[in-house]
Amino acid sequence: MIRRLGLQSLLIATAIAALVPFLLGCGRNEQQLPKRENSVETKAAEVLDGDTFRTNNGKKVRIAGIDTPEAGEKFHDEAKAYLSSLIFEKEISIKPIPAGKDRYGRTLAEVFVDTTNVGIAMIKRGYAYLYLFGDDSYLKGKYLPFLIEAMKQKVGIWGLQPPKPETYYIRVKGSYRFHRPYCPSLKGANPKNLKRIKTRLECFEEGLSPCRNCRP
Ligand SMILES: [Zn+2]
Repeated sequence: MIRRLGLQSLLIATAIAALVPFLLGCGRNEQQLPKRENSVETKAAEVLDGDTFRTNNGKKVRIAGIDTPEAGEKFHDEAKAYLSSLIFEKEISIKPIPAGKDRYGRTLAEVFVDTTNVGIAMIKRGYAYLYLFGDDSYLKGKYLPFLIEAMKQKVGIWGLQPPKPETYYIRVKGSYRFHRPYCPSLKGANPKNLKRIKTRLECFEEGLSPCRNCRP
């Protein structure tokens, strides 16, 4: 009897011993953040403005799919301060978009801190427009609902007095900008490729951003 109990105890102990690393392993995996594919862990060492920063190895990163106010524009300082509060000196994860780099050699990437998508956080606060080029248009579906909500709530840039309205706006096929009807950037464009959009609001709802030239 005693011997049998002893054997049973030994078997149970062995089973538990075999299970423990497995159980611990499971617990650890559950607590871990999901591993993002093709992403790099780094640290933000210097925030340059609301959408650009430098990593601790000197790489310049531009958050893909968004555009925040330039120096001298309203909400530039707020956007920069908010990005700093999110990422400065923190462990972040950057996931370069397929296009890789922009024409200034900056890495275009989605940026995450813990589970927060930093681009979305900037949009939610009303500090960023959508800013797409085409090869990053897969970000539109991800970002647009938050942009529309920020517009509705009139937070940040969406609370500003809108620029002088036009009776209609123009987008060029294949581009994600919208223009005033007389914008010089439209010169030479094939009229077949021009599309009229009735209101500024509709332009934003289509995921477009205002042209830097005519500033609609
Ligand atoms: Zn324009």
